[in-house]
Amino acid sequence: MSADTNLDIAALDKAHALHPWTHFESFVRDGPLVIERGSGCSLWDSDGREYLDAVGGLWCTNIGLGRREMAETIAAQAEKLAFSNTFVDMTNGPSALLSAKLAELAPGDLNHVHLTTGGSTAVDSAYRMVAYYQRCSGRPDKTHVIARDSSYHGSSFATISIGKRSGDKMPEFEYLSEGIHHVSAPDCYRAIGERSEAEFCDDLVVEFEAKINEIGPDKVGGFFAEPIQASGGVVVPPKGYLKRMAEVCQKHDILFIADEVVTGFGRLGHWFASWDEFGVQPDIICCAKGLSSGYQPIGAMIFSDRIWDAMQGDRWYASGFTYAGHPVACAAALKNIEIIEREGLLAHATKVGQYFEDRLGQLENLPMVGDVRGRKLMLCVENVADKATKALLPDDLDVGKRIADAAEARGLMVRPMGHLNVMSPPLVITQSQVDFVAETLEL
Ligand code: PLP
Repeated sequence: MSADTNLDIAALDKAHALHPWTHFESFVRDGPLVIERGSGCSLWDSDGREYLDAVGGLWCTNIGLGRREMAETIAAQAEKLAFSNTFVDMTNGPSALLSAKLAELAPGDLNHVHLTTGGSTAVDSAYRMVAYYQRCSGRPDKTHVIARDSSYHGSSFATISIGKRSGDKMPEFEYLSEGIHHVSAPDCYRAIGERSEAEFCDDLVVEFEAKINEIGPDKVGGFFAEPIQASGGVVVPPKGYLKRMAEVCQKHDILFIADEVVTGFGRLGHWFASWDEFGVQPDIICCAKGLSSGYQPIGAMIFSDRIWDAMQGDRWYASGFTYAGHPVACAAALKNIEIIEREGLLAHATKVGQYFEDRLGQLENLPMVGDVRGRKLMLCVENVADKATKALLPDDLDVGKRIADAAEARGLMVRPMGHLNVMSPPLVITQSQVDFVAETLEL
Protein backbone atom coordinates (compact mmCIF):
# COMPACT_ATOMS: atom_id res chain seq x y z
CA MET A 1 0.00 0.00 0.00
CA SER A 2 1.21 3.48 -0.77
CA ALA A 3 1.48 5.74 2.26
CA ASP A 4 0.57 8.67 -0.01
CA THR A 5 -2.72 7.41 -1.34
CA ASN A 6 -3.80 4.30 0.52
CA LEU A 7 -4.21 2.71 -2.89
CA ASP A 8 -2.50 -0.49 -3.85
CA ILE A 9 -0.19 1.09 -6.43
CA ALA A 10 1.54 -2.19 -7.29
CA ALA A 11 -1.79 -3.91 -8.04
CA LEU A 12 -3.06 -1.00 -10.15
CA ASP A 13 0.23 -0.91 -12.03
CA LYS A 14 0.23 -4.63 -12.59
CA ALA A 15 -3.31 -4.50 -13.94
CA HIS A 16 -2.87 -1.54 -16.29
CA ALA A 17 0.69 -0.47 -17.02
CA LEU A 18 2.94 -1.72 -19.78
CA HIS A 19 6.49 -0.86 -18.72
CA PRO A 20 9.39 -0.30 -21.11
CA TRP A 21 11.43 -3.48 -21.57
CA THR A 22 9.07 -5.81 -19.72
CA HIS A 23 9.55 -9.52 -19.34
CA PHE A 24 5.92 -10.55 -19.01
CA GLU A 25 6.28 -13.76 -17.05
CA SER A 26 8.44 -12.30 -14.30
CA PHE A 27 6.45 -9.05 -14.17
CA VAL A 28 3.19 -10.90 -13.73
CA ARG A 29 4.83 -13.12 -11.10
CA ASP A 30 6.71 -10.46 -9.10
CA GLY A 31 4.99 -7.16 -9.91
CA PRO A 32 6.75 -3.81 -9.67
CA LEU A 33 8.76 -2.29 -6.84
CA VAL A 34 6.97 0.94 -5.97
CA ILE A 35 9.34 3.84 -5.39
CA GLU A 36 7.85 6.67 -3.41
CA ARG A 37 10.55 9.19 -2.59
CA GLY A 38 14.12 10.15 -3.45
CA SER A 39 16.81 12.34 -1.92
CA GLY A 40 20.43 12.63 -3.05
CA CYS A 41 21.53 9.10 -4.00
CA SER A 42 18.77 7.42 -1.97
CA LEU A 43 15.38 6.03 -2.91
CA TRP A 44 12.62 4.87 -0.57
CA ASP A 45 10.02 2.30 -1.53
CA SER A 46 6.40 2.28 -0.44
CA ASP A 47 7.28 0.15 2.60
CA GLY A 48 9.76 2.81 3.73
CA ARG A 49 12.88 0.79 2.83
CA GLU A 50 15.87 2.87 1.75
CA TYR A 51 18.13 1.98 -1.18
CA LEU A 52 21.36 3.54 -2.37
CA ASP A 53 20.62 4.00 -6.07
CA ALA A 54 23.91 3.22 -7.82
CA VAL A 55 21.98 3.14 -11.11
CA GLY A 56 21.30 6.88 -10.91
CA GLY A 57 17.70 6.38 -12.02
CA LEU A 58 18.67 5.30 -15.52
CA TRP A 59 22.08 6.97 -15.97
CA CYS A 60 20.39 10.29 -15.28
CA THR A 61 19.92 11.61 -11.72
CA ASN A 62 23.24 13.47 -11.87
CA ILE A 63 22.69 16.20 -9.25
CA GLY A 64 20.77 13.81 -7.02
CA LEU A 65 17.09 13.73 -6.16
CA GLY A 66 14.91 15.79 -3.86
CA ARG A 67 16.41 19.24 -4.40
CA ARG A 68 14.06 21.95 -3.22
CA GLU A 69 15.75 24.51 -5.50
CA MET A 70 14.84 22.39 -8.51
CA ALA A 71 11.26 21.93 -7.32
CA GLU A 72 10.89 25.68 -6.74
CA THR A 73 12.32 26.53 -10.16
CA ILE A 74 9.97 24.09 -11.85
CA ALA A 75 6.95 25.36 -9.89
CA ALA A 76 7.77 29.01 -10.54
CA GLN A 77 8.19 28.44 -14.28
CA ALA A 78 5.01 26.34 -14.47
CA GLU A 79 3.10 29.20 -12.86
CA LYS A 80 4.67 31.91 -15.03
CA LEU A 81 4.54 30.10 -18.38
CA ALA A 82 3.83 26.38 -18.40
CA PHE A 83 3.92 26.10 -22.17
CA SER A 84 4.46 28.03 -25.34
CA ASN A 85 5.33 26.44 -28.63
CA THR A 86 8.64 27.04 -30.34
CA PHE A 87 7.53 26.15 -33.85
CA VAL A 88 8.62 28.41 -36.71
CA ASP A 89 9.32 31.75 -35.07
CA MET A 90 8.14 31.77 -31.44
CA THR A 91 10.38 31.27 -28.44
CA ASN A 92 10.44 31.70 -24.69
CA GLY A 93 13.13 32.84 -22.25
CA PRO A 94 14.23 29.46 -20.82
CA SER A 95 14.41 27.88 -24.29
CA ALA A 96 16.62 30.64 -25.72
CA LEU A 97 18.78 30.82 -22.59
CA LEU A 98 19.29 27.05 -22.54
CA SER A 99 20.23 26.99 -26.23
CA ALA A 100 22.81 29.71 -25.61
CA LYS A 101 24.15 27.89 -22.53
CA LEU A 102 24.54 24.61 -24.39
CA ALA A 103 26.35 26.40 -27.22
CA GLU A 104 28.71 27.85 -24.58
CA LEU A 105 29.38 24.46 -22.96
CA ALA A 106 29.73 22.43 -26.15
CA PRO A 107 33.18 22.14 -27.73
CA GLY A 108 34.42 24.07 -30.75
CA ASP A 109 31.88 25.53 -33.15
CA LEU A 110 28.90 23.53 -31.89
CA ASN A 111 26.88 26.72 -31.54
CA HIS A 112 23.41 25.61 -32.61
CA VAL A 113 20.83 23.73 -30.62
CA HIS A 114 17.69 21.84 -31.52
CA LEU A 115 15.84 21.04 -28.29
CA THR A 116 13.97 17.76 -28.02
CA THR A 117 12.00 15.74 -25.50
CA GLY A 118 14.69 13.19 -24.58
CA GLY A 119 17.56 11.12 -25.92
CA SER A 120 15.69 9.19 -28.62
CA THR A 121 14.24 12.33 -30.15
CA ALA A 122 17.69 13.97 -30.09
CA VAL A 123 19.30 11.02 -31.94
CA ASP A 124 16.29 10.72 -34.24
CA SER A 125 16.74 14.41 -35.13
CA ALA A 126 20.44 13.84 -35.81
CA TYR A 127 19.55 10.95 -38.12
CA ARG A 128 17.34 13.28 -40.16
CA MET A 129 19.97 16.02 -40.00
CA VAL A 130 22.49 13.74 -41.71
CA ALA A 131 20.50 13.52 -44.95
CA TYR A 132 19.31 17.12 -44.66
CA TYR A 133 22.80 18.53 -44.23
CA GLN A 134 24.29 16.34 -46.93
CA ARG A 135 21.59 17.30 -49.42
CA CYS A 136 21.99 21.00 -48.55
CA SER A 137 25.72 20.53 -49.20
CA GLY A 138 25.14 19.09 -52.67
CA ARG A 139 25.64 15.45 -51.67
CA PRO A 140 22.09 14.07 -51.96
CA ASP A 141 23.12 10.40 -52.04
CA LYS A 142 24.85 10.51 -48.66
CA THR A 143 21.85 9.15 -46.75
CA HIS A 144 23.37 5.96 -45.34
CA VAL A 145 24.61 5.84 -41.77
CA ILE A 146 26.97 3.56 -39.88
CA ALA A 147 26.68 2.64 -36.19
CA ARG A 148 28.30 -0.09 -34.10
CA ASP A 149 27.36 -3.46 -32.70
CA SER A 150 26.32 -3.27 -29.02
CA SER A 151 25.11 0.31 -29.44
CA TYR A 152 21.93 1.76 -28.02
CA HIS A 153 20.69 5.05 -29.45
CA GLY A 154 17.08 5.14 -28.27
CA SER A 155 13.73 3.50 -28.66
CA SER A 156 11.98 5.38 -31.48
CA PHE A 157 11.54 3.46 -34.73
CA ALA A 158 14.63 5.02 -36.31
CA THR A 159 16.90 5.04 -33.26
CA ILE A 160 16.23 1.47 -32.17
CA SER A 161 17.04 0.51 -35.76
CA ILE A 162 20.32 2.44 -35.67
CA GLY A 163 21.29 0.71 -32.40
CA LYS A 164 22.34 -2.91 -32.36
CA ARG A 165 22.20 -4.55 -28.98
CA SER A 166 21.25 -8.16 -28.67
CA GLY A 167 17.75 -8.43 -27.23
CA ASP A 168 16.58 -4.96 -28.27
CA LYS A 169 14.89 -6.08 -31.44
CA MET A 170 11.58 -7.91 -31.09
CA PRO A 171 11.28 -10.76 -33.58
CA GLU A 172 7.60 -9.84 -34.00
CA PHE A 173 8.53 -6.51 -35.60
CA GLU A 174 10.41 -5.40 -38.69
CA TYR A 175 12.92 -2.62 -38.06
CA LEU A 176 14.44 -0.11 -40.48
CA SER A 177 17.40 -1.65 -42.21
CA GLU A 178 17.72 0.13 -45.55
CA GLY A 179 20.67 2.49 -45.35
CA ILE A 180 21.67 1.53 -41.80
CA HIS A 181 24.94 -0.37 -41.37
CA HIS A 182 27.00 -1.62 -38.48
CA VAL A 183 30.65 -2.24 -37.69
CA SER A 184 32.21 -4.01 -34.71
CA ALA A 185 31.97 -2.70 -31.17
CA PRO A 186 35.34 -1.55 -29.79
CA ASP A 187 35.09 -4.16 -27.05
CA CYS A 188 38.53 -4.48 -25.47
CA TYR A 189 37.43 -7.32 -23.17
CA ARG A 190 35.55 -9.71 -25.45
CA ALA A 191 36.66 -8.88 -29.00
CA ILE A 192 40.34 -8.06 -28.66
CA GLY A 193 41.52 -11.69 -28.58
CA GLU A 194 45.32 -12.03 -28.73
CA ARG A 195 45.81 -8.57 -30.28
CA SER A 196 47.39 -5.61 -28.52
CA GLU A 197 45.14 -2.59 -27.93
CA ALA A 198 46.92 -0.75 -30.76
CA GLU A 199 46.45 -3.66 -33.19
CA PHE A 200 42.81 -3.98 -32.20
CA CYS A 201 42.33 -0.26 -32.83
CA ASP A 202 44.01 -0.52 -36.26
CA ASP A 203 41.70 -3.39 -37.21
CA LEU A 204 38.59 -1.46 -36.16
CA VAL A 205 39.60 1.54 -38.25
CA VAL A 206 40.40 -0.67 -41.25
CA GLU A 207 37.01 -2.36 -40.87
CA PHE A 208 35.29 1.06 -40.79
CA GLU A 209 37.01 2.23 -43.96
CA ALA A 210 36.23 -1.07 -45.65
CA LYS A 211 32.55 -0.70 -44.70
CA ILE A 212 32.49 2.85 -46.14
CA ASN A 213 34.07 1.60 -49.37
CA GLU A 214 31.65 -1.33 -49.56
CA ILE A 215 28.62 1.00 -49.28
CA GLY A 216 30.28 3.72 -51.35
CA PRO A 217 31.86 6.85 -49.81
CA ASP A 218 29.41 8.97 -51.82
CA LYS A 219 26.52 7.25 -50.01
CA VAL A 220 27.62 7.35 -46.36
CA GLY A 221 26.50 10.52 -44.57
CA GLY A 222 26.84 9.89 -40.86
CA PHE A 223 28.52 7.82 -38.15
CA PHE A 224 26.86 7.37 -34.74
CA ALA A 225 28.97 6.61 -31.69
CA GLU A 226 28.53 6.73 -27.95
CA PRO A 227 31.99 7.78 -26.64
CA ILE A 228 31.65 4.90 -24.17
CA GLN A 229 28.92 2.47 -25.16
CA ALA A 230 26.53 2.52 -22.23
CA SER A 231 23.75 -0.06 -22.40
CA GLY A 232 25.90 -2.24 -24.65
CA GLY A 233 27.98 -3.04 -21.57
CA VAL A 234 30.05 0.07 -20.73
CA VAL A 235 32.42 -0.55 -23.62
CA VAL A 236 35.46 1.74 -23.38
CA PRO A 237 37.18 1.97 -26.79
CA PRO A 238 40.90 1.35 -27.28
CA LYS A 239 43.18 4.37 -26.98
CA GLY A 240 43.00 6.67 -30.01
CA TYR A 241 40.03 4.85 -31.54
CA LEU A 242 37.46 7.66 -31.52
CA LYS A 243 39.95 10.18 -32.88
CA ARG A 244 40.91 7.92 -35.73
CA MET A 245 37.28 7.11 -36.55
CA ALA A 246 36.60 10.87 -36.60
CA GLU A 247 39.53 11.38 -39.01
CA VAL A 248 38.07 8.77 -41.36
CA CYS A 249 34.72 10.56 -41.17
CA GLN A 250 36.35 13.87 -42.02
CA LYS A 251 38.15 12.36 -45.00
CA HIS A 252 34.84 11.17 -46.48
CA ASP A 253 32.52 14.07 -45.49
CA ILE A 254 30.74 11.87 -43.00
CA LEU A 255 29.17 13.60 -40.00
CA PHE A 256 30.46 12.30 -36.66
CA ILE A 257 27.51 12.15 -34.26
CA ALA A 258 28.53 11.72 -30.63
CA ASP A 259 25.64 10.21 -28.70
CA GLU A 260 26.40 11.72 -25.29
CA VAL A 261 23.00 10.96 -23.81
CA VAL A 262 24.78 9.06 -21.02
CA THR A 263 28.35 10.41 -21.12
CA GLY A 264 27.39 14.11 -21.03
CA PHE A 265 26.83 16.38 -18.04
CA GLY A 266 29.44 15.10 -15.67
CA ARG A 267 29.25 11.33 -15.76
CA LEU A 268 32.94 11.26 -16.72
CA GLY A 269 33.74 14.54 -14.97
CA HIS A 270 33.21 16.74 -18.06
CA TRP A 271 30.32 18.50 -19.73
CA PHE A 272 30.97 16.34 -22.79
CA ALA A 273 33.24 13.31 -23.01
CA SER A 274 33.91 13.27 -26.76
CA TRP A 275 36.13 16.34 -26.57
CA ASP A 276 37.35 16.45 -22.96
CA GLU A 277 37.96 12.72 -22.47
CA PHE A 278 38.72 11.56 -26.02
CA GLY A 279 39.85 14.71 -27.89
CA VAL A 280 37.24 14.39 -30.64
CA GLN A 281 35.39 17.38 -32.05
CA PRO A 282 32.06 15.93 -33.22
CA ASP A 283 29.81 17.55 -35.80
CA ILE A 284 26.75 16.82 -33.68
CA ILE A 285 26.32 16.00 -29.99
CA CYS A 286 23.09 14.41 -28.79
CA CYS A 287 22.37 14.77 -25.09
CA ALA A 288 19.55 14.24 -22.56
CA LYS A 289 19.42 12.54 -19.13
CA GLY A 290 21.99 14.53 -17.07
CA LEU A 291 20.93 17.67 -18.98
CA SER A 292 18.11 17.97 -16.44
CA SER A 293 19.25 15.22 -14.06
CA GLY A 294 15.85 13.63 -14.69
CA TYR A 295 13.89 16.50 -13.11
CA GLN A 296 12.16 17.09 -16.46
CA PRO A 297 12.16 15.16 -19.73
CA ILE A 298 14.38 17.01 -22.20
CA GLY A 299 17.10 16.38 -24.75
CA ALA A 300 19.11 18.34 -27.29
CA MET A 301 20.91 17.99 -30.59
CA ILE A 302 23.83 20.43 -30.63
CA PHE A 303 25.40 21.01 -34.03
CA SER A 304 28.15 22.91 -35.77
CA ASP A 305 28.40 26.21 -37.61
CA ARG A 306 29.25 24.20 -40.73
CA ILE A 307 25.87 22.41 -40.61
CA TRP A 308 24.02 25.62 -39.75
CA ASP A 309 25.63 27.49 -42.63
CA ALA A 310 24.78 24.73 -45.10
CA MET A 311 21.12 24.84 -44.04
CA GLN A 312 20.62 28.54 -44.82
CA GLY A 313 18.40 29.52 -47.73
CA ASP A 314 14.88 29.26 -49.03
CA ARG A 315 14.03 25.90 -47.48
CA TRP A 316 12.21 24.41 -44.49
CA TYR A 317 13.65 22.40 -41.66
CA ALA A 318 10.50 20.33 -41.19
CA SER A 319 11.17 18.39 -38.03
CA GLY A 320 10.49 19.00 -34.33
CA PHE A 321 8.28 18.23 -31.36
CA THR A 322 5.42 19.96 -29.55
CA TYR A 323 7.43 19.99 -26.35
CA ALA A 324 10.69 21.19 -27.93
CA GLY A 325 11.90 24.17 -25.92
CA HIS A 326 9.32 23.44 -23.21
CA PRO A 327 9.78 26.35 -20.80
CA VAL A 328 9.50 24.26 -17.63
CA ALA A 329 11.90 21.58 -18.88
CA CYS A 330 14.35 24.24 -20.09
CA ALA A 331 14.17 26.11 -16.77
CA ALA A 332 14.92 22.84 -14.97
CA ALA A 333 17.89 22.13 -17.27
CA LEU A 334 19.28 25.65 -16.73
CA LYS A 335 18.99 25.32 -12.96
CA ASN A 336 20.55 21.84 -13.12
CA ILE A 337 23.55 23.24 -15.04
CA GLU A 338 23.81 26.13 -12.57
CA ILE A 339 23.93 23.65 -9.68
CA ILE A 340 26.61 21.53 -11.39
CA GLU A 341 28.70 24.70 -11.86
CA ARG A 342 28.06 26.22 -8.42
CA GLU A 343 28.77 23.03 -6.48
CA GLY A 344 31.79 22.05 -8.59
CA LEU A 345 30.18 18.69 -9.42
CA LEU A 346 32.41 18.04 -12.44
CA ALA A 347 35.49 18.19 -10.20
CA HIS A 348 33.73 16.10 -7.57
CA ALA A 349 32.73 13.49 -10.17
CA THR A 350 36.34 13.33 -11.36
CA LYS A 351 37.63 12.77 -7.82
CA VAL A 352 34.97 10.45 -6.47
CA GLY A 353 34.78 8.78 -9.88
CA GLN A 354 38.46 7.86 -9.65
CA TYR A 355 37.81 6.40 -6.20
CA PHE A 356 34.81 4.49 -7.61
CA GLU A 357 37.02 3.07 -10.40
CA ASP A 358 39.74 2.05 -7.92
CA ARG A 359 37.38 0.64 -5.30
CA LEU A 360 35.20 -1.32 -7.74
CA GLY A 361 38.35 -2.44 -9.56
CA GLN A 362 39.17 -4.49 -6.45
CA LEU A 363 36.17 -6.69 -7.26
CA GLU A 364 38.35 -8.26 -9.97
CA ASN A 365 39.88 -10.27 -7.12
CA LEU A 366 36.60 -12.15 -6.78
CA PRO A 367 36.54 -15.54 -8.55
CA MET A 368 33.43 -14.72 -10.60
CA VAL A 369 34.38 -11.22 -11.75
CA GLY A 370 36.07 -11.27 -15.14
CA ASP A 371 36.24 -7.54 -15.76
CA VAL A 372 35.45 -4.24 -14.09
CA ARG A 373 35.45 -1.49 -16.69
CA GLY A 374 34.33 2.02 -17.44
CA ARG A 375 35.44 5.47 -16.42
CA LYS A 376 34.60 7.60 -13.40
CA LEU A 377 30.90 7.29 -12.55
CA MET A 378 30.05 4.91 -15.38
CA LEU A 379 31.16 1.40 -14.49
CA CYS A 380 30.21 -2.19 -15.13
CA VAL A 381 31.11 -5.53 -13.59
CA GLU A 382 31.25 -8.48 -15.96
CA ASN A 383 30.57 -11.82 -14.27
CA VAL A 384 32.03 -14.95 -15.84
CA ALA A 385 32.23 -18.70 -15.26
CA ASP A 386 35.98 -18.78 -15.93
CA LYS A 387 38.27 -15.77 -15.66
CA ALA A 388 40.99 -17.28 -17.85
CA THR A 389 38.76 -18.27 -20.76
CA LYS A 390 36.15 -15.54 -20.13
CA ALA A 391 33.51 -18.28 -20.53
CA LEU A 392 30.02 -17.06 -19.72
CA LEU A 393 27.81 -18.42 -16.99
CA PRO A 394 24.70 -20.22 -18.28
CA ASP A 395 21.94 -17.81 -19.33
CA ASP A 396 19.35 -19.49 -17.13
CA LEU A 397 21.44 -18.62 -14.08
CA ASP A 398 20.53 -14.96 -14.79
CA VAL A 399 23.59 -13.92 -12.82
CA GLY A 400 23.25 -10.15 -13.24
CA LYS A 401 19.67 -10.26 -11.99
CA ARG A 402 20.54 -12.51 -9.06
CA ILE A 403 23.33 -10.19 -7.97
CA ALA A 404 21.05 -7.17 -8.37
CA ASP A 405 18.31 -8.89 -6.31
CA ALA A 406 20.79 -9.82 -3.56
CA ALA A 407 22.13 -6.25 -3.52
CA GLU A 408 18.59 -4.85 -3.41
CA ALA A 409 17.84 -7.00 -0.37
CA ARG A 410 20.84 -5.27 1.29
CA GLY A 411 19.69 -1.79 0.29
CA LEU A 412 21.70 -1.26 -2.89
CA MET A 413 20.45 -0.87 -6.45
CA VAL A 414 22.70 -1.98 -9.30
CA ARG A 415 21.39 -2.58 -12.80
CA PRO A 416 21.38 -6.12 -14.16
CA MET A 417 22.07 -6.54 -17.88
CA GLY A 418 22.48 -10.22 -18.72
CA HIS A 419 25.68 -11.30 -17.02
CA LEU A 420 26.65 -7.70 -16.26
CA ASN A 421 25.91 -5.31 -13.42
CA VAL A 422 26.00 -1.69 -14.45
CA MET A 423 26.37 1.40 -12.27
CA SER A 424 26.03 5.14 -12.90
CA PRO A 425 25.37 6.81 -9.54
CA PRO A 426 24.53 10.49 -9.09
CA LEU A 427 27.59 12.77 -9.28
CA VAL A 428 27.00 13.73 -5.65
CA ILE A 429 27.88 10.23 -4.40
CA THR A 430 30.35 10.28 -1.50
CA GLN A 431 33.39 8.08 -0.83
CA SER A 432 31.60 6.32 2.02
CA GLN A 433 28.65 5.57 -0.29
CA VAL A 434 31.13 4.16 -2.82
CA ASP A 435 32.52 1.96 -0.03
CA PHE A 436 28.98 0.74 0.68
CA VAL A 437 28.52 -0.18 -3.00
CA ALA A 438 31.82 -2.08 -3.11
CA GLU A 439 31.32 -3.80 0.24
CA THR A 440 27.80 -4.91 -0.69
CA LEU A 441 28.98 -6.35 -4.01
CA GLU A 442 31.85 -8.12 -2.26
CA LEU A 443 29.44 -10.08 -0.05
N1 PLP B 1 21.26 7.21 -26.43
C1 PLP B 1 21.84 6.55 -25.43
C2 PLP B 1 23.33 6.34 -25.45
C3 PLP B 1 21.08 6.06 -24.37
O1 PLP B 1 21.66 5.34 -23.40
C4 PLP B 1 19.69 6.30 -24.37
C5 PLP B 1 18.85 5.81 -23.27
O2 PLP B 1 19.28 5.11 -22.39
C6 PLP B 1 19.13 6.99 -25.44
C7 PLP B 1 19.94 7.44 -26.46
C8 PLP B 1 17.65 7.25 -25.49
O3 PLP B 1 17.27 8.22 -24.56
P1 PLP B 1 15.74 8.32 -24.09
O4 PLP B 1 15.42 7.07 -23.36
O5 PLP B 1 15.73 9.57 -23.23
O6 PLP B 1 14.91 8.49 -25.28
